[in-house]
Amino acid sequence: MKIGDLIVGSKYTNNDICNAFLCSPRGGMRRSKRTNTLVLITNQKSFYDGRWFDNKLYYIGMGSKGSQSLKGNQNITLYESNKNGIDVHLFEAFRSKVNTYMGRVQLADKPFQEKQDDVDGQLRKVWVFPLQIIGNTMPVRMDELEKAFQDEFNESKQLSIEELKDRINKTAKHPSSRESTLRVFQKSPYIIDYTLRRASGVCELCNQKAPFNKPNGEHYLEVHHIHQLADGGEDTTENAVALCPNCHRMMHSLNRKSDIDMLILANKAKKT
Ligand SMILES: [Zn+2]
Ligand SMILES: [Zn+2]
Repeated sequence: MKIGDLIVGSKYTNNDICNAFLCSPRGGMRRSKRTNTLVLITNQKSFYDGRWFDNKLYYIGMGSKGSQSLKGNQNITLYESNKNGIDVHLFEAFRSKVNTYMGRVQLADKPFQEKQDDVDGQLRKVWVFPLQIIGNTMPVRMDELEKAFQDEFNESKQLSIEELKDRINKTAKHPSSRESTLRVFQKSPYIIDYTLRRASGVCELCNQKAPFNKPNGEHYLEVHHIHQLADGGEDTTENAVALCPNCHRMMHSLNRKSDIDMLILANKAKKT
């Protein structure tokens, strides 16, 4: 694999990255003299890593203990990257072993210092590098962000309440924000309308009346696809049911076979 073969938005293993850039297999900043590149790997899950605002990544430099320095490490390489002729490439690891290639990046503004705790909880100064992607950007996929969130949430559950409070104290009050893409299914409005009419205000799973009415007086129910569209389910009246919000959440959380069977039966019985 060569650097030129990398495709923005595609996923690569650590091995792929080492083969393409001829760089070290470790570290978030990898300088390769052989390919005259600097490879940055930012981990969305890592507590100390950068944050995104306005399509800029505020990347935190090297050094996990004590104040970060611009001497004797790759921080200086990145600091001078707009004039030292070294190409900087960015990968984002949304989960530990998968790295998404984001493309080449350059400094968007002058790097600056800010205060942050180090791994031992000591306040120190870090270098922050505002980076922007050169050329076409590939918005991150929503499901990647959701998976990363879920991984971090699962890890959070292993923390003691003290550790959890400590994390909360160190969490930026303004969260990262960035553009992302979402795969959208264009559901037929006719199927939805038909399904809601068929239910006539009664949840097709628990058979209770809709919990409230909308301002226009219509019963509030949600249309759910028994076999989900994302899994190849069809957008048909046979596959669509109207559910109260509780049952809808329950189907997405549990998706029990007994409930599915009941919905299929209810659907068949009402067929006109
Ligand atoms: Zn219900
Ligand atoms: Zn649903």
